[in-house]
Amino acid sequence: MGKVTGFIEIDRHDRRYAPASDRIRHYKEFVLPMSEASTKDQAARCMNCGIPFCHNGCPVNNQIPDWNDLVYRGDWEEAASNLHSTNNFPEFTGRICPAPCEAACTLNLSDSPVTIKTIENAIIDRAWEEGWVRPQKATRQTGKTIAIVGSGPAGLACAQQLARAGHDVHVYEKNPKPGGLLRYGIPDFKLEKRHIDRRVAQMSSEGVTFHCGVNVGVDITAQELQENYDAVVLAGGSEKPRDLPIPGRDLNGIHFAMDFLPQQNRRVSKEPVRSNTPILASGKHVVVIGGGDTGSDCIGTSIRQGALSVTQLEIMPRPPEKENKLLTWPDWPLKLRTSSSQEEGAERDFAVLTKEFTGDGGQVKQLHISRVDGKMQPVPDSGFSLRADLVLLAMGFVSPIEDGLLADLGVQLDARGNVAADTKVYRSSTDKVFACGDMRRGQSLVVWAIREGRQAASSVDAHLMGSTTLPR
Ligand SMILES: Cc1cc2nc3c(=O)[nH]c(=O)nc-3n(C[C@H](O)[C@H](O)[C@H](O)COP(=O)(O)OP(=O)(O)OC[C@H]3O[C@@H](n4cnc5c(N)ncnc54)[C@H](O)[C@@H]3O)c2cc1C
Ligand code: SF4
Repeated sequence: MGKVTGFIEIDRHDRRYAPASDRIRHYKEFVLPMSEASTKDQAARCMNCGIPFCHNGCPVNNQIPDWNDLVYRGDWEEAASNLHSTNNFPEFTGRICPAPCEAACTLNLSDSPVTIKTIENAIIDRAWEEGWVRPQKATRQTGKTIAIVGSGPAGLACAQQLARAGHDVHVYEKNPKPGGLLRYGIPDFKLEKRHIDRRVAQMSSEGVTFHCGVNVGVDITAQELQENYDAVVLAGGSEKPRDLPIPGRDLNGIHFAMDFLPQQNRRVSKEPVRSNTPILASGKHVVVIGGGDTGSDCIGTSIRQGALSVTQLEIMPRPPEKENKLLTWPDWPLKLRTSSSQEEGAERDFAVLTKEFTGDGGQVKQLHISRVDGKMQPVPDSGFSLRADLVLLAMGFVSPIEDGLLADLGVQLDARGNVAADTKVYRSSTDKVFACGDMRRGQSLVVWAIREGRQAASSVDAHLMGSTTLPR
Protein backbone atom coordinates (compact mmCIF):
# COMPACT_ATOMS: atom_id res chain seq x y z
CA MET A 1 0.00 0.00 0.00
CA GLY A 2 1.00 3.67 -0.09
CA LYS A 3 2.09 5.12 3.22
CA VAL A 4 0.48 3.30 6.15
CA THR A 5 -0.45 6.55 7.87
CA GLY A 6 -0.72 8.60 4.67
CA PHE A 7 -4.46 9.12 4.84
CA ILE A 8 -4.12 10.48 8.40
CA GLU A 9 -1.15 12.75 7.74
CA ILE A 10 -1.94 14.12 4.29
CA ASP A 11 -5.01 16.12 3.29
CA ARG A 12 -6.70 15.65 -0.06
CA HIS A 13 -5.52 18.14 -2.68
CA ASP A 14 -6.51 18.11 -6.30
CA ARG A 15 -5.54 19.78 -9.57
CA ARG A 16 -6.66 23.36 -9.92
CA TYR A 17 -8.09 25.16 -12.92
CA ALA A 18 -6.65 28.25 -14.56
CA PRO A 19 -8.87 31.22 -13.56
CA ALA A 20 -12.12 31.42 -15.52
CA SER A 21 -11.27 34.94 -16.71
CA ASP A 22 -8.18 33.53 -18.49
CA ARG A 23 -9.43 30.19 -19.70
CA ILE A 24 -12.55 31.51 -21.46
CA ARG A 25 -10.26 33.37 -23.88
CA HIS A 26 -9.17 30.15 -25.58
CA TYR A 27 -10.16 26.55 -26.29
CA LYS A 28 -7.10 24.87 -24.76
CA GLU A 29 -7.16 22.57 -21.73
CA PHE A 30 -6.92 24.54 -18.49
CA VAL A 31 -6.44 21.92 -15.75
CA LEU A 32 -3.12 22.65 -14.03
CA PRO A 33 -1.16 19.43 -13.37
CA MET A 34 0.09 18.80 -9.81
CA SER A 35 3.80 18.57 -9.11
CA GLU A 36 5.41 15.13 -8.94
CA ALA A 37 5.88 15.50 -5.18
CA SER A 38 2.23 16.41 -4.57
CA THR A 39 1.05 13.55 -6.78
CA LYS A 40 3.19 11.11 -4.77
CA ASP A 41 1.74 12.54 -1.55
CA GLN A 42 -1.78 12.07 -2.83
CA ALA A 43 -1.00 8.48 -3.90
CA ALA A 44 0.33 7.86 -0.39
CA ARG A 45 -3.18 8.48 0.97
CA CYS A 46 -4.47 5.23 -0.56
CA MET A 47 -5.24 2.78 2.26
CA ASN A 48 -5.14 -0.38 0.09
CA CYS A 49 -8.48 -1.41 1.58
CA GLY A 50 -9.12 -5.12 2.04
CA ILE A 51 -11.99 -4.71 -0.40
CA PRO A 52 -10.97 -1.89 -2.75
CA PHE A 53 -14.38 -0.51 -3.67
CA CYS A 54 -12.71 1.92 -6.10
CA HIS A 55 -11.77 -1.11 -8.20
CA ASN A 56 -15.40 -2.03 -8.79
CA GLY A 57 -16.48 1.59 -8.97
CA CYS A 58 -14.24 1.95 -12.02
CA PRO A 59 -15.96 0.47 -15.10
CA VAL A 60 -12.64 -0.79 -16.54
CA ASN A 61 -11.68 -2.12 -13.08
CA ASN A 62 -8.43 -0.17 -12.98
CA GLN A 63 -6.15 -1.68 -10.30
CA ILE A 64 -6.09 1.60 -8.44
CA PRO A 65 -4.41 0.64 -5.14
CA ASP A 66 -1.59 -1.05 -7.10
CA TRP A 67 -0.70 1.98 -9.17
CA ASN A 68 -1.14 4.34 -6.24
CA ASP A 69 1.48 2.29 -4.43
CA LEU A 70 3.81 2.32 -7.47
CA VAL A 71 3.51 6.11 -7.74
CA TYR A 72 4.16 6.52 -4.03
CA ARG A 73 7.31 4.42 -4.45
CA GLY A 74 8.38 6.33 -7.57
CA ASP A 75 8.03 3.47 -10.06
CA TRP A 76 6.06 5.44 -12.66
CA GLU A 77 6.91 3.17 -15.58
CA GLU A 78 5.49 0.11 -13.83
CA ALA A 79 2.46 2.21 -12.81
CA ALA A 80 1.88 3.06 -16.50
CA SER A 81 2.21 -0.58 -17.48
CA ASN A 82 -0.29 -1.61 -14.78
CA LEU A 83 -2.71 1.13 -15.85
CA HIS A 84 -2.53 0.06 -19.49
CA SER A 85 -3.33 -3.52 -18.52
CA THR A 86 -6.95 -2.47 -17.88
CA ASN A 87 -7.39 0.80 -19.79
CA ASN A 88 -6.27 1.41 -23.37
CA PHE A 89 -6.65 5.18 -23.12
CA PRO A 90 -6.02 6.56 -19.62
CA GLU A 91 -5.27 10.01 -21.07
CA PHE A 92 -8.95 10.24 -22.08
CA THR A 93 -10.39 9.02 -18.78
CA GLY A 94 -7.80 10.94 -16.75
CA ARG A 95 -9.22 14.09 -18.33
CA ILE A 96 -12.95 13.53 -18.79
CA CYS A 97 -14.11 10.60 -16.65
CA PRO A 98 -16.54 11.67 -13.92
CA ALA A 99 -14.53 9.33 -11.65
CA PRO A 100 -17.08 6.97 -10.11
CA CYS A 101 -13.99 5.34 -8.52
CA GLU A 102 -13.62 8.37 -6.25
CA ALA A 103 -17.27 8.15 -5.18
CA ALA A 104 -16.54 4.51 -4.24
CA CYS A 105 -13.26 5.25 -2.38
CA THR A 106 -13.48 4.42 1.34
CA LEU A 107 -12.05 7.85 2.15
CA ASN A 108 -15.09 9.36 0.41
CA LEU A 109 -17.02 8.35 3.53
CA SER A 110 -15.35 11.43 5.02
CA ASP A 111 -15.57 13.46 1.77
CA SER A 112 -11.84 13.19 1.07
CA PRO A 113 -11.39 10.41 -1.52
CA VAL A 114 -8.00 9.71 -3.00
CA THR A 115 -7.50 11.89 -6.11
CA ILE A 116 -7.57 8.79 -8.29
CA LYS A 117 -8.34 10.49 -11.59
CA THR A 118 -5.56 13.03 -11.14
CA ILE A 119 -3.03 10.29 -10.35
CA GLU A 120 -4.20 8.28 -13.37
CA ASN A 121 -3.71 11.33 -15.57
CA ALA A 122 -0.28 12.06 -14.11
CA ILE A 123 0.86 8.48 -14.79
CA ILE A 124 -0.19 8.46 -18.44
CA ASP A 125 1.01 11.98 -19.23
CA ARG A 126 4.40 11.07 -17.80
CA ALA A 127 4.41 7.80 -19.74
CA TRP A 128 3.91 9.68 -23.01
CA GLU A 129 6.57 12.27 -22.11
CA GLU A 130 9.10 9.58 -21.20
CA GLY A 131 8.44 7.59 -24.40
CA TRP A 132 7.09 4.57 -22.51
CA VAL A 133 3.96 4.38 -24.68
CA ARG A 134 5.07 2.48 -27.76
CA PRO A 135 3.29 0.41 -30.39
CA GLN A 136 2.76 -3.16 -29.20
CA LYS A 137 2.85 -5.09 -32.43
CA ALA A 138 1.43 -8.59 -32.52
CA THR A 139 4.12 -11.25 -32.76
CA ARG A 140 2.04 -13.43 -35.11
CA GLN A 141 -0.79 -12.77 -37.55
CA THR A 142 -3.93 -14.89 -37.46
CA GLY A 143 -5.04 -14.21 -41.04
CA LYS A 144 -8.49 -13.18 -39.76
CA THR A 145 -10.01 -9.88 -40.86
CA ILE A 146 -12.32 -7.70 -38.77
CA ALA A 147 -14.30 -4.56 -39.67
CA ILE A 148 -15.21 -2.13 -36.91
CA VAL A 149 -17.83 0.53 -37.68
CA GLY A 150 -17.20 3.66 -35.63
CA SER A 151 -14.00 5.10 -34.16
CA GLY A 152 -15.22 6.44 -30.81
CA PRO A 153 -13.63 5.09 -27.63
CA ALA A 154 -15.50 1.76 -27.99
CA GLY A 155 -14.35 1.17 -31.58
CA LEU A 156 -10.79 2.32 -30.83
CA ALA A 157 -10.43 0.10 -27.73
CA CYS A 158 -11.87 -2.88 -29.60
CA ALA A 159 -9.59 -2.28 -32.59
CA GLN A 160 -6.45 -1.95 -30.48
CA GLN A 161 -7.13 -5.15 -28.55
CA LEU A 162 -7.90 -7.15 -31.71
CA ALA A 163 -4.85 -5.85 -33.61
CA ARG A 164 -2.64 -6.80 -30.67
CA ALA A 165 -4.14 -10.30 -30.86
CA GLY A 166 -2.81 -10.53 -34.44
CA HIS A 167 -5.97 -9.83 -36.47
CA ASP A 168 -6.15 -7.59 -39.53
CA VAL A 169 -8.41 -4.78 -38.22
CA HIS A 170 -10.13 -2.16 -40.37
CA VAL A 171 -11.97 0.75 -38.73
CA TYR A 172 -14.67 2.50 -40.80
CA GLU A 173 -15.56 6.04 -39.76
CA LYS A 174 -17.95 8.40 -41.53
CA ASN A 175 -16.22 11.54 -40.19
CA PRO A 176 -12.97 12.81 -41.71
CA LYS A 177 -10.93 11.85 -38.64
CA PRO A 178 -11.16 9.09 -36.00
CA GLY A 179 -12.27 9.67 -32.40
CA GLY A 180 -16.08 9.78 -32.40
CA LEU A 181 -17.47 12.07 -29.71
CA LEU A 182 -13.97 12.47 -28.27
CA ARG A 183 -13.10 14.47 -31.40
CA TYR A 184 -16.33 16.05 -32.62
CA GLY A 185 -18.49 16.28 -29.46
CA ILE A 186 -16.27 16.95 -26.46
CA PRO A 187 -14.67 20.41 -26.70
CA ASP A 188 -10.92 20.94 -26.86
CA PHE A 189 -10.93 22.73 -23.52
CA LYS A 190 -11.82 19.35 -21.94
CA LEU A 191 -9.77 17.13 -24.28
CA GLU A 192 -7.29 18.47 -26.84
CA LYS A 193 -7.40 16.44 -30.02
CA ARG A 194 -3.63 15.81 -30.07
CA HIS A 195 -4.28 13.04 -27.52
CA ILE A 196 -6.46 11.20 -30.06
CA ASP A 197 -3.99 11.77 -32.91
CA ARG A 198 -1.20 10.25 -30.82
CA ARG A 199 -3.22 7.11 -30.10
CA VAL A 200 -4.36 6.78 -33.70
CA ALA A 201 -0.69 6.92 -34.78
CA GLN A 202 0.16 4.22 -32.22
CA MET A 203 -2.70 2.04 -33.45
CA SER A 204 -1.73 2.53 -37.11
CA SER A 205 1.77 1.32 -36.22
CA GLU A 206 0.17 -1.70 -34.55
CA GLY A 207 -1.51 -2.55 -37.87
CA VAL A 208 -4.99 -0.99 -37.57
CA THR A 209 -6.21 0.49 -40.88
CA PHE A 210 -8.50 3.53 -40.64
CA HIS A 211 -10.98 4.19 -43.46
CA CYS A 212 -12.29 7.68 -42.68
CA GLY A 213 -15.01 9.50 -44.60
CA VAL A 214 -16.84 6.19 -45.21
CA ASN A 215 -20.43 6.06 -44.03
CA VAL A 216 -21.32 2.39 -43.85
CA GLY A 217 -24.86 1.93 -45.13
CA VAL A 218 -24.45 4.90 -47.49
CA ASP A 219 -21.00 4.86 -49.14
CA ILE A 220 -20.61 1.10 -48.85
CA THR A 221 -23.20 -1.45 -47.85
CA ALA A 222 -23.14 -3.24 -44.54
CA GLN A 223 -23.40 -6.49 -46.52
CA GLU A 224 -20.04 -5.75 -48.17
CA LEU A 225 -18.46 -5.74 -44.73
CA GLN A 226 -20.24 -8.96 -43.81
CA GLU A 227 -19.02 -10.64 -47.00
CA ASN A 228 -15.44 -9.34 -46.88
CA TYR A 229 -14.60 -9.72 -43.19
CA ASP A 230 -14.60 -12.61 -40.74
CA ALA A 231 -16.34 -10.46 -38.10
CA VAL A 232 -18.00 -7.05 -37.96
CA VAL A 233 -18.21 -4.94 -34.78
CA LEU A 234 -20.82 -2.18 -34.57
CA ALA A 235 -19.52 0.72 -32.48
CA GLY A 236 -21.46 3.57 -34.08
CA GLY A 237 -22.57 5.35 -30.90
CA SER A 238 -25.97 6.71 -29.91
CA GLU A 239 -26.57 9.53 -32.35
CA LYS A 240 -30.31 10.23 -32.33
CA PRO A 241 -30.87 13.31 -30.14
CA ARG A 242 -33.94 13.74 -27.90
CA ASP A 243 -36.10 16.48 -29.42
CA LEU A 244 -38.52 18.96 -27.83
CA PRO A 245 -41.55 18.93 -30.16
CA ILE A 246 -43.39 21.97 -28.75
CA PRO A 247 -44.94 24.98 -30.52
CA GLY A 248 -42.28 27.17 -32.13
CA ARG A 249 -39.70 24.36 -32.43
CA ASP A 250 -39.20 25.19 -36.13
CA LEU A 251 -38.06 28.79 -35.46
CA ASN A 252 -34.54 29.71 -36.51
CA GLY A 253 -31.97 29.68 -33.73
CA ILE A 254 -33.02 26.39 -32.12
CA HIS A 255 -30.44 23.66 -32.63
CA PHE A 256 -29.39 20.32 -31.29
CA ALA A 257 -26.18 20.47 -29.23
CA MET A 258 -24.51 18.11 -31.68
CA ASP A 259 -25.15 20.54 -34.54
CA PHE A 260 -23.40 23.27 -32.53
CA LEU A 261 -20.46 21.59 -30.74
CA PRO A 262 -18.85 19.81 -33.73
CA GLN A 263 -18.70 23.11 -35.65
CA GLN A 264 -16.54 24.68 -32.95
CA ASN A 265 -14.34 21.58 -32.61
CA ARG A 266 -13.77 21.71 -36.39
CA ARG A 267 -12.92 25.43 -36.24
CA VAL A 268 -10.35 24.76 -33.51
CA SER A 269 -8.83 21.91 -35.54
CA LYS A 270 -8.93 24.00 -38.73
CA GLU A 271 -11.15 21.45 -40.43
CA PRO A 272 -13.94 22.61 -42.78
CA VAL A 273 -17.06 23.35 -40.66
CA ARG A 274 -19.14 21.31 -43.15
CA SER A 275 -22.33 23.36 -42.75
CA ASN A 276 -23.81 26.30 -44.62
CA THR A 277 -25.33 27.55 -41.36
CA PRO A 278 -22.67 28.56 -38.88
CA ILE A 279 -24.14 28.36 -35.38
CA LEU A 280 -22.47 30.91 -33.13
CA ALA A 281 -23.32 32.23 -29.66
CA SER A 282 -21.40 35.50 -30.04
CA GLY A 283 -23.48 38.50 -28.89
CA LYS A 284 -26.48 36.28 -28.10
CA HIS A 285 -28.58 35.35 -25.11
CA VAL A 286 -28.19 31.58 -25.05
CA VAL A 287 -30.46 29.05 -23.35
CA VAL A 288 -29.22 25.48 -22.98
CA ILE A 289 -31.94 22.92 -22.31
CA GLY A 290 -30.53 19.89 -20.51
CA GLY A 291 -28.26 19.60 -17.50
CA GLY A 292 -25.69 16.88 -18.36
CA ASP A 293 -22.18 16.84 -19.85
CA THR A 294 -23.46 17.89 -23.26
CA GLY A 295 -25.26 20.87 -21.74
CA SER A 296 -22.11 21.89 -19.88
CA ASP A 297 -20.07 21.68 -23.07
CA CYS A 298 -22.59 23.96 -24.79
CA ILE A 299 -22.18 26.47 -21.94
CA GLY A 300 -18.36 26.50 -22.05
CA THR A 301 -18.38 26.81 -25.84
CA SER A 302 -21.00 29.60 -25.83
CA ILE A 303 -19.05 31.56 -23.23
CA ARG A 304 -15.84 31.24 -25.24
CA GLN A 305 -17.66 32.42 -28.37
CA GLY A 306 -18.76 35.57 -26.52
CA ALA A 307 -22.39 34.94 -25.52
CA LEU A 308 -24.10 37.84 -23.71
CA SER A 309 -25.68 35.42 -21.23
CA VAL A 310 -26.05 31.68 -20.82
CA THR A 311 -28.89 30.03 -18.91
CA GLN A 312 -29.20 26.30 -18.39
CA LEU A 313 -32.58 24.71 -17.77
CA GLU A 314 -33.06 21.31 -16.19
CA ILE A 315 -36.40 19.52 -15.83
CA MET A 316 -35.23 17.50 -12.80
CA PRO A 317 -35.38 19.07 -9.33
CA ARG A 318 -32.24 20.66 -7.89
CA PRO A 319 -30.29 17.75 -6.34
CA PRO A 320 -29.17 17.88 -2.70
CA GLU A 321 -25.83 19.65 -2.00
CA LYS A 322 -24.59 16.60 -0.16
CA GLU A 323 -25.50 12.92 -0.49
CA ASN A 324 -26.54 10.66 2.37
CA LYS A 325 -23.49 8.40 2.41
CA LEU A 326 -25.19 5.68 4.42
CA LEU A 327 -27.68 5.27 1.61
CA THR A 328 -25.47 5.86 -1.42
CA TRP A 329 -21.84 4.84 -0.77
CA PRO A 330 -20.05 3.21 -2.66
CA ASP A 331 -22.42 3.94 -5.54
CA TRP A 332 -22.47 7.09 -7.65
CA PRO A 333 -24.62 9.53 -5.68
CA LEU A 334 -27.14 12.03 -6.95
CA LYS A 335 -25.93 15.41 -5.69
CA LEU A 336 -25.45 18.92 -6.97
CA ARG A 337 -22.32 19.12 -9.10
CA THR A 338 -20.94 22.21 -10.73
CA SER A 339 -18.91 21.69 -13.89
CA SER A 340 -16.01 23.94 -14.84
CA SER A 341 -18.19 25.36 -17.64
CA GLN A 342 -21.05 26.13 -15.26
CA GLU A 343 -18.50 27.89 -13.01
CA GLU A 344 -17.56 30.13 -15.91
CA GLY A 345 -20.79 32.04 -15.66
CA ALA A 346 -24.04 30.20 -16.43
CA GLU A 347 -27.31 30.75 -14.62
CA ARG A 348 -28.98 27.44 -13.73
CA ASP A 349 -32.64 26.76 -13.11
CA PHE A 350 -34.11 23.43 -12.03
CA ALA A 351 -37.57 21.78 -12.17
CA VAL A 352 -38.62 23.78 -15.22
CA LEU A 353 -40.35 22.73 -18.43
CA THR A 354 -40.24 24.72 -21.67
CA LYS A 355 -43.75 24.75 -23.15
CA GLU A 356 -43.39 27.03 -26.16
CA PHE A 357 -40.88 29.01 -28.21
CA THR A 358 -41.98 32.31 -29.74
CA GLY A 359 -40.11 34.57 -32.10
CA ASP A 360 -39.96 37.52 -34.39
CA GLY A 361 -39.57 37.27 -38.18
CA GLY A 362 -39.00 33.51 -37.92
CA GLN A 363 -36.21 33.87 -35.34
CA VAL A 364 -36.58 32.54 -31.79
CA LYS A 365 -36.82 35.30 -29.17
CA GLN A 366 -38.44 33.80 -26.08
CA LEU A 367 -39.01 30.58 -24.18
CA HIS A 368 -42.24 30.17 -22.23
CA ILE A 369 -41.59 28.05 -19.20
CA SER A 370 -43.50 26.43 -16.31
CA ARG A 371 -42.16 25.17 -13.04
CA VAL A 372 -42.87 21.46 -12.47
CA ASP A 373 -43.71 19.47 -9.35
CA GLY A 374 -42.13 16.23 -8.14
CA LYS A 375 -44.09 14.30 -10.78
CA MET A 376 -42.79 16.63 -13.49
CA GLN A 377 -46.27 18.12 -13.97
CA PRO A 378 -46.59 21.89 -14.57
CA VAL A 379 -47.34 23.89 -11.40
CA PRO A 380 -50.40 26.13 -12.03
CA ASP A 381 -49.63 29.86 -12.41
CA SER A 382 -45.87 29.27 -12.31
CA GLY A 383 -45.25 30.38 -15.90
CA PHE A 384 -42.51 32.82 -16.88
CA SER A 385 -40.60 33.79 -20.03
CA LEU A 386 -36.93 33.89 -20.82
CA ARG A 387 -35.19 35.82 -23.58
CA ALA A 388 -33.17 33.75 -26.05
CA ASP A 389 -31.52 34.32 -29.43
CA LEU A 390 -29.97 30.86 -29.49
CA VAL A 391 -31.45 27.71 -27.93
CA LEU A 392 -29.34 24.57 -27.66
CA LEU A 393 -31.12 21.27 -27.06
CA ALA A 394 -28.93 19.02 -24.92
CA MET A 395 -31.46 16.56 -23.54
CA GLY A 396 -29.55 13.42 -24.32
CA PHE A 397 -29.65 10.79 -27.03
CA VAL A 398 -32.42 8.25 -27.42
CA SER A 399 -30.76 5.56 -29.54
CA PRO A 400 -28.51 4.84 -32.52
CA ILE A 401 -29.77 5.83 -35.97
CA GLU A 402 -31.57 2.84 -37.43
CA ASP A 403 -31.66 3.85 -41.10
CA GLY A 404 -28.72 2.68 -43.21
CA LEU A 405 -26.29 0.48 -41.31
CA LEU A 406 -28.62 -1.16 -38.76
CA ALA A 407 -31.60 -1.51 -41.06
CA ASP A 408 -29.40 -3.03 -43.81
CA LEU A 409 -27.98 -5.59 -41.42
CA GLY A 410 -31.40 -6.34 -39.97
CA VAL A 411 -29.98 -6.58 -36.45
CA GLN A 412 -32.52 -6.95 -33.67
CA LEU A 413 -32.94 -3.87 -31.49
CA ASP A 414 -33.82 -3.80 -27.79
CA ALA A 415 -36.81 -1.96 -26.33
CA ARG A 416 -34.87 1.32 -26.31
CA GLY A 417 -33.78 1.00 -29.94
CA ASN A 418 -30.18 0.02 -29.18
CA VAL A 419 -28.54 -2.99 -30.85
CA ALA A 420 -29.59 -6.05 -28.84
CA ALA A 421 -26.49 -7.91 -27.61
CA ASP A 422 -25.55 -9.13 -24.13
CA THR A 423 -22.40 -8.23 -22.19
CA LYS A 424 -21.12 -11.81 -22.13
CA VAL A 425 -20.48 -12.24 -25.85
CA TYR A 426 -21.60 -8.88 -27.33
CA ARG A 427 -23.05 -10.79 -30.31
CA SER A 428 -25.98 -9.31 -32.23
CA SER A 429 -28.84 -11.30 -33.79
CA THR A 430 -27.03 -11.20 -37.16
CA ASP A 431 -24.37 -13.76 -38.03
CA LYS A 432 -20.77 -12.69 -37.16
CA VAL A 433 -21.92 -9.17 -36.19
CA PHE A 434 -21.06 -7.86 -32.69
CA ALA A 435 -21.95 -4.57 -30.98
CA CYS A 436 -20.45 -2.47 -28.19
CA GLY A 437 -20.37 1.02 -26.68
CA ASP A 438 -23.24 3.50 -26.83
CA MET A 439 -24.69 1.71 -29.87
CA ARG A 440 -25.35 -1.28 -27.61
CA ARG A 441 -25.80 0.18 -24.11
CA GLY A 442 -27.30 3.57 -24.99
CA GLN A 443 -25.72 6.93 -24.22
CA SER A 444 -23.14 6.52 -21.51
CA LEU A 445 -19.55 7.43 -20.64
CA VAL A 446 -16.16 7.14 -22.31
CA VAL A 447 -14.94 4.71 -19.66
CA TRP A 448 -17.92 2.39 -20.28
CA ALA A 449 -17.26 2.56 -24.03
CA ILE A 450 -13.63 1.51 -23.42
CA ARG A 451 -14.79 -1.37 -21.22
CA GLU A 452 -17.28 -2.57 -23.81
CA GLY A 453 -14.75 -2.25 -26.64
CA ARG A 454 -12.24 -4.36 -24.71
CA GLN A 455 -14.79 -6.99 -23.72
CA ALA A 456 -16.25 -7.21 -27.23
CA ALA A 457 -12.71 -7.69 -28.58
CA SER A 458 -12.16 -10.60 -26.23
CA SER A 459 -15.43 -12.15 -27.40
CA VAL A 460 -14.65 -11.64 -31.11
CA ASP A 461 -11.20 -13.19 -30.62
CA ALA A 462 -12.73 -16.21 -28.87
CA HIS A 463 -15.32 -16.53 -31.66
CA LEU A 464 -12.66 -16.47 -34.40
CA MET A 465 -9.95 -18.51 -32.70
CA GLY A 466 -11.89 -20.85 -30.43
CA SER A 467 -10.22 -19.36 -27.33
CA THR A 468 -8.72 -16.05 -26.27
CA THR A 469 -6.09 -14.60 -24.00
CA LEU A 470 -7.48 -11.06 -24.32
CA PRO A 471 -8.63 -9.78 -20.93
CA ARG A 472 -12.25 -8.83 -20.41
C1 LIG B 1 -21.16 16.64 -26.02
C2 LIG B 1 -20.84 15.40 -25.26
C3 LIG B 1 -20.00 15.48 -24.16
C4 LIG B 1 -19.68 14.33 -23.44
N1 LIG B 1 -18.84 14.45 -22.38
C5 LIG B 1 -18.45 13.33 -21.72
C6 LIG B 1 -17.53 13.41 -20.64
O1 LIG B 1 -17.10 14.50 -20.25
N2 LIG B 1 -17.14 12.26 -20.04
C7 LIG B 1 -17.59 11.03 -20.45
O2 LIG B 1 -17.17 10.01 -19.91
N3 LIG B 1 -18.48 10.93 -21.46
C8 LIG B 1 -18.93 12.04 -22.10
N4 LIG B 1 -19.82 11.94 -23.13
C9 LIG B 1 -20.30 10.58 -23.53
C10 LIG B 1 -19.23 9.87 -24.38
O3 LIG B 1 -18.66 10.76 -25.31
C11 LIG B 1 -19.83 8.66 -25.08
O4 LIG B 1 -20.44 7.83 -24.12
C12 LIG B 1 -18.75 7.86 -25.83
O5 LIG B 1 -18.06 8.66 -26.75
C13 LIG B 1 -19.39 6.66 -26.55
O6 LIG B 1 -18.40 6.02 -27.29
P1 LIG B 1 -18.74 5.13 -28.56
O7 LIG B 1 -17.44 4.69 -29.10
O8 LIG B 1 -19.74 4.10 -28.18
O9 LIG B 1 -19.49 6.10 -29.58
P2 LIG B 1 -19.11 7.49 -30.24
O10 LIG B 1 -18.06 8.21 -29.47
O11 LIG B 1 -20.41 8.18 -30.45
O12 LIG B 1 -18.48 7.09 -31.64
C14 LIG B 1 -19.26 6.48 -32.64
C15 LIG B 1 -18.60 6.73 -33.99
O13 LIG B 1 -19.24 5.93 -34.96
C16 LIG B 1 -19.33 6.67 -36.17
N5 LIG B 1 -20.39 6.08 -36.98
C17 LIG B 1 -21.71 5.94 -36.65
N6 LIG B 1 -22.37 5.33 -37.64
C18 LIG B 1 -21.49 5.10 -38.63
C19 LIG B 1 -21.60 4.51 -39.92
N7 LIG B 1 -22.76 4.04 -40.39
N8 LIG B 1 -20.48 4.42 -40.68
C20 LIG B 1 -19.28 4.91 -40.22
N9 LIG B 1 -19.14 5.48 -39.01
C21 LIG B 1 -20.22 5.57 -38.20
C22 LIG B 1 -19.63 8.06 -35.68
O14 LIG B 1 -19.32 9.03 -36.67
C23 LIG B 1 -18.72 8.16 -34.47
O15 LIG B 1 -17.45 8.64 -34.82
C24 LIG B 1 -20.21 13.07 -23.84
C25 LIG B 1 -21.09 13.00 -24.92
C26 LIG B 1 -21.41 14.15 -25.63
C27 LIG B 1 -22.36 14.07 -26.78
S1 SF4 C 1 -11.25 5.39 -15.56
FE1 SF4 C 1 -12.63 6.76 -14.41
S2 SF4 C 1 -13.51 5.43 -12.84
FE2 SF4 C 1 -11.70 4.37 -13.63
S3 SF4 C 1 -9.97 4.99 -12.30
FE3 SF4 C 1 -10.00 6.43 -14.03
S4 SF4 C 1 -11.20 8.16 -13.31
FE4 SF4 C 1 -11.67 6.42 -11.95
